[in-house]
Amino acid sequence: MIPIVPATSTSSVAVNWLAPGELRLTSLPPLSLYVHLPWCVRKCPYCDFNSHEHADSQLPERAYVDALRRDLEASLPQVWGRRVHSVFIGGGTPSLFSAEAIDEILAMARALLPLEADAEVTLEANPGTFEAARFRDYRSAGINRLSLGVQSFDDDALRRLGRIHDARQARAALECAGELFGNFNLDLMYALPGQTRAQALADLKSALSYAPPHLSLYHLTIEPNTVFAKFPPEVPDQDSAAEMQDALYAELAVGRYERYEISAFARPGRRCQHNLNYWNFGDYLGIGAGAHSKLSFAARVVRAMRVKQPMVYLERAARGESLIFEESEVAASELPFEFMLNALRLIEGVPVARFAERTGLPLSAVLPKLEIAQQRGLIERDHLRLRATARGLAFLNDLQEIFLAD
Ligand code: SF4
Repeated sequence: MIPIVPATSTSSVAVNWLAPGELRLTSLPPLSLYVHLPWCVRKCPYCDFNSHEHADSQLPERAYVDALRRDLEASLPQVWGRRVHSVFIGGGTPSLFSAEAIDEILAMARALLPLEADAEVTLEANPGTFEAARFRDYRSAGINRLSLGVQSFDDDALRRLGRIHDARQARAALECAGELFGNFNLDLMYALPGQTRAQALADLKSALSYAPPHLSLYHLTIEPNTVFAKFPPEVPDQDSAAEMQDALYAELAVGRYERYEISAFARPGRRCQHNLNYWNFGDYLGIGAGAHSKLSFAARVVRAMRVKQPMVYLERAARGESLIFEESEVAASELPFEFMLNALRLIEGVPVARFAERTGLPLSAVLPKLEIAQQRGLIERDHLRLRATARGLAFLNDLQEIFLAD
């Protein structure tokens, strides 16, 4: 990344980003909006997201919504005139926020940005914060897709994962999601501490009994700087986890779920539009503590991150200071890796032309590396499409690393 300007003034940033540069983007990609709500009742021991425990129920909700407004207003010069195709309110636990606050955030987004009439608008929810009346009000506020972090239907597994909800609460939230939203995602994890193949399959069968239009299936990974990294639980070994994964994928295929991304499964027409935009190297404006943005301009691609600590974010917003912690242009040499990091996650891959469209670089910039990947059997391509092979998906990190800058 090439730092261009110190992160103190958003208006000067917008002017600089419009100056001539190395890339030639013929059109700007679709734009999404991400809103980060950073608090959780309790930190899960495996979680490395920017989420912070909030001891009491008195969230600084009013101040945070005001800060989001300042954040969005200051960002507008960077996205003037661009339509927004999807909104994702993530966290943390966004469902800790009242329906009034969510309503205000969405009203603000609609007032300040040209939001497509049929935009997918997702809210992440924790079954431990489920209340039917509030979820109904989220729906009235304009949330048209719910993403429920269920993770397991086994109470012992949920306890070991440090979740604040039990299986009964997960089931109640799922029933409500089906009735109120129709379109919802269920997050499920496998290779959990002490989990057997039969238990993982039982979890999946419970999940499928709610006919979720979308399912995200994650292998539990031990991330650095988490409680699990410090006190590692005993998890299934690599071979058992791989067997578990095969059995789960087979079950999903029987249920007519299509695996369209490395961890995402959907019924026809129910792929997540917001995430598809990330994987297609689209643009996103991220507001809220620690939120990331990726924005394209005619001659450059720029990444930014907001101030991470929620209380510092609030203080800076109250003082009218910039909320951007760091902002920099992505070097042309890094763009091939950034593009492939996303695009190769998609099972069907991407049109070959998308590389030039989204990076502003000619395909020739990446041709030698594509050939290496092809010779190793990790990708397949013709003049129209480019995608990872089954081997490439199994060794995705190795495949993506081929595209790292020399
Ligand atoms: S609820 Fe989600 S965001 Fe919050 S700590 Fe747990 S995994 Fe992280």
